[in-house]
Amino acid sequence: MPVFPLLADGSTYDPHEIRPNDPDSFNHWLTLFTQQIENVCENAVESEGHTDDAKQRAAAARDAFLAWLAPLHDDPQAHGELTLLGIDAKRDGILEEHGFADAFSVVKQKENDLALPLLAGVLKELDALPDDQRLLQLVRGIFAGNIFDLGIQATVEMFKNNGVDFHRTRASLPDRPWCVDSFDALAERWAVGPHRKAMVFVDNAGADVTLGMVPLCREMLRRSTQVVIAANTGPSLNDITHAELIDHIQHIAQFDQTIAHALDTDQLKLIPSGCELPLIDLSKVSDDVVAESDGVDFVVLEGMGRALETNFNAEFTCDALKIAMVKDEQVATWLGGKVYDVICRFDAASE
Ligand code: MG
Repeated sequence: MPVFPLLADGSTYDPHEIRPNDPDSFNHWLTLFTQQIENVCENAVESEGHTDDAKQRAAAARDAFLAWLAPLHDDPQAHGELTLLGIDAKRDGILEEHGFADAFSVVKQKENDLALPLLAGVLKELDALPDDQRLLQLVRGIFAGNIFDLGIQATVEMFKNNGVDFHRTRASLPDRPWCVDSFDALAERWAVGPHRKAMVFVDNAGADVTLGMVPLCREMLRRSTQVVIAANTGPSLNDITHAELIDHIQHIAQFDQTIAHALDTDQLKLIPSGCELPLIDLSKVSDDVVAESDGVDFVVLEGMGRALETNFNAEFTCDALKIAMVKDEQVATWLGGKVYDVICRFDAASE
């Protein structure tokens, strides 16, 4: 697969910001993946209507993954140098071997259906804001939506209990300055005028894409930017897939003229990213990403997996925004913050 052409230097690019073999954090990652597989398997069973057959296969998948993790307890190097991408790929491979190609299909659809009716109100409120206040509220909406993460135990519990209220989450975000905060640089660039073309790598289904990322993309469309949204080619955890996004955006186009018009005129394009994991290795992207990179002057990477755990320090030949809510303690420590801190990193094109 090809390298993302907008990387400043594809030959030195390294997506792995987090090294799970690091002795200080190894136990954290081992615990995370050990706990996570339970929830993943619960969702896998739900995705097939709680049949006995699904329960048996899910239990076997869980056992197989735990058996793979087991030697790591004594020897962190048992499987060589680990990466989060590698561990995620192992888990998803085992699930697939046990017949679960998309363990979160049901919950993703449910969260999309819950978020969709809220979108018109969110857009109306954004549209009513003065131009100089709208960008901040868009960014805050992305943070709030990004709390929907079923790979992390803390937010899994939240969604199991009462779900998460988008408006309440947005209202209770940390005050600025945020843990990583170059919003002012973003706002300055934004005020100069629209970007020519944006490529936006999205994260989760539900409120995340619907109430966080769609409003940002729509605002860029209103400012005459060409927008390309790259979603996962294949499913992983609760990330929205390209196929799901096409369906979801079609629903949005039924009530939003900006999105409908942009789809009709190809001002808005949806493409598969080439990725099948909850993070992204930009040294292996789809041909569509390469083809659409032509003319792009703004890259947006959204979510903890794509913008922090991979790519936080990646440099691009165009402006880049890395934006996410932090939901993991180790990632928070690495960034000098705490869980539920928010990250807005804007870097102008590197010379
Ligand atoms: Mg995700």
